[in-house]
Amino acid sequence: MPLKVNEIYYSVQGESTHTGRPCIFVRLTYCNLRCSYCDTEYAFYEGEYMEISDILDKIADWNCNLVEVTGGEPLFQPECIELLESLVENKYEVMLETGGSLPISKVPPAVIKIVDFKCPSSGMEKKNNWQIVDDLQPHDEVKFVIGSRADFDWAKEKIFHYKLDKKCTLLMSPTFGEIDPQNIVEWILAENLPVRMQLQMHKVIWSPETQKV
Ligand code: SF4
Repeated sequence: MPLKVNEIYYSVQGESTHTGRPCIFVRLTYCNLRCSYCDTEYAFYEGEYMEISDILDKIADWNCNLVEVTGGEPLFQPECIELLESLVENKYEVMLETGGSLPISKVPPAVIKIVDFKCPSSGMEKKNNWQIVDDLQPHDEVKFVIGSRADFDWAKEKIFHYKLDKKCTLLMSPTFGEIDPQNIVEWILAENLPVRMQLQMHKVIWSPETQKV
């Protein structure tokens, strides 16, 4: 079955502990969420259908072994699992960026999952699927996009309630343009929270509106 693909491009990782690594991005179309700060609305509907074999042919254009499947919400298309399996079979190091609302139980174990649970200021908090926590692996990462002190306190509560710090690496990043990153750093230090602060590096290097990063 083909997948609807919004774009495929080669750049550097802008987030996660893999920041700065050259990476091929496969952005799938559609998302089941509508976050207040969404910067990829162009992926909600636009795209063209591609067979998995065509996607593999396309990414072979670049001499790069790291591939991230992102969106939109990549797991919205069930065929995403088959794509991930094919990438793993073809010996790629694979990352998956997902919004924390859809099950990850069928994602191949070799795939590094970046799970972006939604804080209250996103407007999508009620969509979080906390059963996902049971399927997290040590190589996965959980990300919280923080837009306010209320978001920070909410994330802190979730970290300790679900013992997320015992599961995998935890990331916090500011909602771009909404909050001074210095505030988040100060809160992390004051609370001694077991998270890694990160910025969206691609928005620092290029303009915030740039799509292909
Ligand atoms: S999950 Fe991602 S793509 Fe979907 S609305 Fe939220 S920020 Fe946008």
